[in-house]
Amino acid sequence: MSDNFAQSTLNIHKEESTGDKKLPSHAKAVIIGGGVVGCSILFHLAKFGWKDVVLLERDELTSGSSWHAAGQIHTISSDPNISRLQSYTIDLYKEIEETSGHSVGLHITGGFYLASNKTWYDYLKRERSKARYMGLNQEFISPKEVAERHPLIDPKHYHAALWDDQDGDLDPSGATYAFAKSARVHGAQYFTHTPVTGTTQRADGSWDVTTPRGVINAEHIVNCGGLWAREVGHMQGINLPVQPMEHHYLITDKIDAVANHPTRLPAGIDYEANIYFRQERQGMLLGTYEPKGTPWKVDGTPWDFGHELLQPDLDRIADRLEMSFERIPAIGEAGIKDMINGPFTFGPDGNPMIGPVPGMKNYWCAVGVMAGFCQGGGVGLTMAEWMIDGEPSIDVWAMDVARFGEFATPDWGTVKSTENYERRFVMTFPNETLPKGRMQKTTALYDRLVAKGARMGQGFGLENALWFADGPEDAHEEPTFERNRSHDYVAREVKAVREAVGGIEVANFAKHEFKGAGARAYLDRVLAGYVPKPGRLTLTPMLTPKGKLYGDLTVACLGEEHFMLFGSGAMQEAHRRWFEKDLPEDVSYQNVSDDWHGIALSGPKSRQLLQRITREDVSGEALKFRDLRQTFVGGVPVILNRISFSGELGYEIYCKPQYLLRLAEAIEEAGADLGYRWYGARALMSMRLEKGWGVWTLDFRPDFDAVESGMDVFINWKKDFVGKEAALQAREAGASRKLVTMTIDVDGIDVSNDEAILKDGEAVGYISSGGYAHHAQKSMAMGYVSAEHAAAGTRLQVEILGEMYDAEVLGAPIYDANGANMRA
Ligand SMILES: Cc1cc2nc3c(=O)[nH]c(=O)nc-3n(C[C@H](O)[C@H](O)[C@H](O)COP(=O)(O)OP(=O)(O)OC[C@H]3O[C@@H](n4cnc5c(N)ncnc54)[C@H](O)[C@@H]3O)c2cc1C
Repeated sequence: MSDNFAQSTLNIHKEESTGDKKLPSHAKAVIIGGGVVGCSILFHLAKFGWKDVVLLERDELTSGSSWHAAGQIHTISSDPNISRLQSYTIDLYKEIEETSGHSVGLHITGGFYLASNKTWYDYLKRERSKARYMGLNQEFISPKEVAERHPLIDPKHYHAALWDDQDGDLDPSGATYAFAKSARVHGAQYFTHTPVTGTTQRADGSWDVTTPRGVINAEHIVNCGGLWAREVGHMQGINLPVQPMEHHYLITDKIDAVANHPTRLPAGIDYEANIYFRQERQGMLLGTYEPKGTPWKVDGTPWDFGHELLQPDLDRIADRLEMSFERIPAIGEAGIKDMINGPFTFGPDGNPMIGPVPGMKNYWCAVGVMAGFCQGGGVGLTMAEWMIDGEPSIDVWAMDVARFGEFATPDWGTVKSTENYERRFVMTFPNETLPKGRMQKTTALYDRLVAKGARMGQGFGLENALWFADGPEDAHEEPTFERNRSHDYVAREVKAVREAVGGIEVANFAKHEFKGAGARAYLDRVLAGYVPKPGRLTLTPMLTPKGKLYGDLTVACLGEEHFMLFGSGAMQEAHRRWFEKDLPEDVSYQNVSDDWHGIALSGPKSRQLLQRITREDVSGEALKFRDLRQTFVGGVPVILNRISFSGELGYEIYCKPQYLLRLAEAIEEAGADLGYRWYGARALMSMRLEKGWGVWTLDFRPDFDAVESGMDVFINWKKDFVGKEAALQAREAGASRKLVTMTIDVDGIDVSNDEAILKDGEAVGYISSGGYAHHAQKSMAMGYVSAEHAAAGTRLQVEILGEMYDAEVLGAPIYDANGANMRA
């Protein structure tokens, strides 16, 4: 039985030092940083065909956080695609061990996630449901079985455990070296004791990477600086919102029950106790995420920090240890042989930040990877696909560096990364909004809406109303998987919109502005749908060259050479990156999301209200569905779009931020006798479900193509556009899965997303979004199912918290099927 801790933390491998080798003058890509992440990317690039790739490491490989990791590996993650990549990572270890001949010290023991209360049991049931359609081998076992598999655990504390065959542990240092040596087998090179001291971009877009041993000119550079990711970013003026955090684990002396156990003990995570544990030699290793995290070196990681550990502080983790000693008494009774406190880097939401950095050319990053031995292989795979093929093979939005923008400042990054460290094993409920780093961005209406009872959430740093209570004191809810107390309030908002008129802020929609002689031709090429005439709006998908969805956008033609695109607020930097990639010289582009705030008015009385506050003729004949005007509403200059995501007659009114308050006052005043009510994102999500309209990041994402998602109805097949060839092929082949809308026969609880959809007990798809449709008074969901189960009327089952509920596929929207209301 190998001793992973001793291998990884005490004996740093030095035999591979490449200090004397001459640096090449050129490389296709230079990777900065030889931790597990950089080495995995090097390996994948070389394996997939880029041989001319070089990794530079300032010290020995593993000189950041990689050498002192606890080496525990598991597949579970809040994001199903990250879970898939974790599963890929674990499977990869055998391959790199064989390729490199270097042991990774792998022990696939299986592992369990322990539920010590009903809520955690519910959480694990959700995970189990995901595992069904992902093909992961997870099953529930009883506390008795837990004790049988791991005699040190006192089963009386637990309700159940979710068992995963793939979990285990490895030697972190060995794994990192195995990646590096395998990369070399595939033709790549790495150089140790070669710190990168500068990165300078040439006019041709390539990079000069400066080291004390010479300069390498590289087409691409990749920041894998780990603990120094921020400093490497600063070389190029990039502020990455990541933060190293102090983290403790302990290793016990020999425990007889461990030593005498016939097989290696399984790994485990106990969420409530906030601990992870595994066998280490003849004792145990136990780590914990304490409730108050300690950010390390907030102002920057010193360059001379090496293979050092930090001073342990037992007081900080005493509560956690006490709980874990109750649950695994043998650990409490054993002596502590080693106490490790080491730093590793977290990102604001706990997930890695990878991909091309928006606003930069040929500058990539893979930073904030907080579980490098679970995720490093998947990160390497994704980065290599992205760099070589231009796009990853699965949607990696949950890891995309572009999910953060300018708002993610270093200070904000420290606050949020600390929050995420503290919440590493803390559940986030579907209706929960995390408290830290709030009010980073607000609109002029923030105080006004809060005073009216708005319960706020945030997206892309911007606060937005989720729902409206009866006043500020009433604006609270408990985190829960079940329907929460906002339910009746949201019903009230939906009723106002469906029967009278409501308003919602639209500052959080992205706005992209294009100008210039070539703007129409450019948009015609990058968008798959129709580009409208002046004064008109169209809806269009945007596809990748491989035919995957990369956007669903509303295009507004403000003038023959002037367009505004409206889309997902969360995707705004990803879309900016997309548009800027190969923008023609005769087109100017800007992400103007923060320059345009506004209010969407919806409901049968919205026209009446609007007409009261504008001199523009907004009658149905003068301002038709999908018309737009640059005009004045409420006395302020606006872009007025006749369109609504609620499925009602409605208008999106965009104005400059300084006019928003005036516009809101005018609307409130004019709407008082019409039953005007503010509504929030939850009401909007409820209403769009009744129309069967998908939303970006949930129902629409690069995992799917236009045919699968039904977005093909908006495609203009007569023109050439990015992704056309692949889209045509997909159309001819016919979709193997389809996005469907369903009603579910359930009370008191609704789906959120990622639940399994079943037919006769077999997983046939998964839920992409859902909730309660307040007007239709039905629980509803959207999801992707195998094509043979997508026909209207098909009876399926949906798993919610372990229970199966009947569902029926709809053939048409449950509300206003022919769109008469919105076209009125
Ligand atoms: C106590 C502890 C326990 C952990 N337990 C686990 C676990 O059980 N499972 C798990 O999956 N993860 C675990 N982790 C996390 C894991 O260690 C990290 O996710 C992983 O090490 C991140 O790897 P990296 O390559 O991104 O960064 P790092 O390991 O920090 O590597 C970055 C590398 O870049 C080099 N570098 C930086 N700047 C430059 C420059 N300018 N020029 C050249 N080189 C440069 C550094 O020297 C370093 O070698 C643990 C971490 C800690 C601290």
